[in-house]
Amino acid sequence: MAPLLQTTELAVSFGGVRALDGVDLVVEPGRLVGLIGPNGAGKSTFIDAVTGFVASTGRVEFAGRDISGAPAYRRARAGLGRTWQTVELFDDLTVAENLRVAAEPSRLGWAVADLLRPRRRGAEARVEVALARVDLAGVADLLPNRLSQGQRKLVGVARAFAAEPALVCLDEPAAGLDPAESSAL
Ligand code: ADP
Ligand code: MG
Repeated sequence: MAPLLQTTELAVSFGGVRALDGVDLVVEPGRLVGLIGPNGAGKSTFIDAVTGFVASTGRVEFAGRDISGAPAYRRARAGLGRTWQTVELFDDLTVAENLRVAAEPSRLGWAVADLLRPRRRGAEARVEVALARVDLAGVADLLPNRLSQGQRKLVGVARAFAAEPALVCLDEPAAGLDPAESSAL
């Protein structure tokens, strides 16, 4: 099967620190791929490089397109989602509103598709589905400061899902979750 994501010779340097060097990685559609390594191994930097949040050399192909050098927002629109190791939520928005930020049509084509194809989920439904997926439907109308650290982390995961990406890069999604939350995830 054609890969969904393929990196070739991906490399990132921070001054003298070679954080990534020659990373070749293939993710096929429908696969769960885990990146394992000690602190400082370069896991977050790899996600940053793939999603366009740090400058890299080498090649990143996503869904058959070369997206090397594309800005982060273009990669996101192409269907590449991510979460952050340290979750940042909008504290004056409700949980559902935090997801709306990601679920709102980000381009005209998507907005038109929402109107023309009723079977496609609209933004509101994308939010509901994403929250239900991480079992947070019950806290949709709360402000994030009412949630546990684990729940906040899961809101970050749901926010990535709300954009209905083709691939999601989760950065340490289980860190800060209790054992039950972790196994549910
Ligand atoms: P991991 O996520 O596997 O713990 P990181 O990707 O955060 O590892 O870090 C990989 C290496 O890059 C580490 O040596 C880290 O200190 C360094 N590094 C990460 N981000 C930066 C940055 N913004 N500036 C300088 N060095 C960084
Ligand atoms: Mg990290």
